[in-house]
Amino acid sequence: MSALLTVSDVHVAYGKVEAVRAVSLDVADNEIVTIIGANGAGKTTLLNAVMGILPLKGRVAFAGEDLGRLEIEDRVAAGLSLVPEHRELFASMNIEDNLQLGAFRVGRARAATSFERVYTLFPRLKERRKQLAGTLSGGEQQMLAMGRALMGAPKLLMLDEPSLGLAPIIVADIFRTVGELRRAGVSVLLVEQNAQAALAIADRAYVMELGEFVLSGTAKDIAADQRVAASYLGFTHEDESAV
Ligand code: ATP
Repeated sequence: MSALLTVSDVHVAYGKVEAVRAVSLDVADNEIVTIIGANGAGKTTLLNAVMGILPLKGRVAFAGEDLGRLEIEDRVAAGLSLVPEHRELFASMNIEDNLQLGAFRVGRARAATSFERVYTLFPRLKERRKQLAGTLSGGEQQMLAMGRALMGAPKLLMLDEPSLGLAPIIVADIFRTVGELRRAGVSVLLVEQNAQAALAIADRAYVMELGEFVLSGTAKDIAADQRVAASYLGFTHEDESAV
């Protein structure tokens, strides 16, 4: 598999405080990769830096092209998209208009295809397309934030904590959609505190602690790791075998 995103030896600092240190990762075509870690580990900082929202030291390449000092706009045009942790929707605009904003740089014909694709993926958004974003449930808002990011037809969707504040049944729904995205040819970089849900869907995983990656491997191996189970999954594999 060829690498779609390659992050090499990246550092990100807030003033003198390094929030991300010497991080390297890659995401291949058609791959779901997750970064798990506790609150404050540096996951959001890393995604924001890859998107170009924060400056970084190191190298980020996407689809073989060095992102270097490319503006956010140009990164979006290259096929990168970020669904931010707090969703950042326009509360007083309806679903359709929020989605339209996500398609501002694609032509009318492609926007029509994108609408169709997003509404197929999230039929609920279609049913409620005239409803104001601010009146949607948390799960619907997450779907809308993902839908808006997909309107520009990205090759890689970066999802920051999509499960935040959602009930388990809604989380399952959102994660099922992430699996469908991969089948539709979109790679996913998923940042999550909900390690269990993330590892269940991902191909590979990185564990982040205090700004650094401390472990990486297939999602299956990471889920089976004793330290990960104890720190992030809320049980030990010994407990599991005792059941
Ligand atoms: P969360 O899930 O809570 O977002 P995270 O793993 O995404 O956690 P970050 O939000 O990236 O972690 O935070 C990493 C570190 O950087 C933390 O110590 C945090 O306090 C610090 N930090 C985050 N944003 C800023 C900022 N704007 N200015 C200064 N420090 C910041």
